[in-house]
Amino acid sequence: MITIVEVLLALAVMAVIGYPLYVKPSLAEGDVDEGDNLHKLVSAKEAAFVALKDLEFDYKTGKIDEADYATLKSRYEAEAVNVMKRLDNAVKGKSAESSGKHTAAKARYCSGCGKKIEEGDRFCAACGQPVKK
Ligand SMILES: [Zn+2]
Repeated sequence: MITIVEVLLALAVMAVIGYPLYVKPSLAEGDVDEGDNLHKLVSAKEAAFVALKDLEFDYKTGKIDEADYATLKSRYEAEAVNVMKRLDNAVKGKSAESSGKHTAAKARYCSGCGKKIEEGDRFCAACGQPVKK
């Protein structure tokens, strides 16, 4: 008869043996994918800005008329904004992953007593003063 302890022990052994084989390659893959993706997004952002600059140059030098300029400009701008949003998300996702929930950013302090306000608190835990956003 197999006991729970034996099952857990078997799982633990499998986890220890399987860890370097299973976890390492997938982590490495993830890093490559993420870096590659970020790199692509950065390139796409730069390309969008270059396209915008070229467009402006063409317009100023009279190569294209105002209607074409306006159409293309809004298209390139939308593209640039889209890429920047994705880039922002990619960077945020990466930093959130690596730092977890312990983000040191935006520490707030009570304006009444100076105690630190925990994230999400609407009132100071020390003196009860409402927290200003
Ligand atoms: Zn306070």
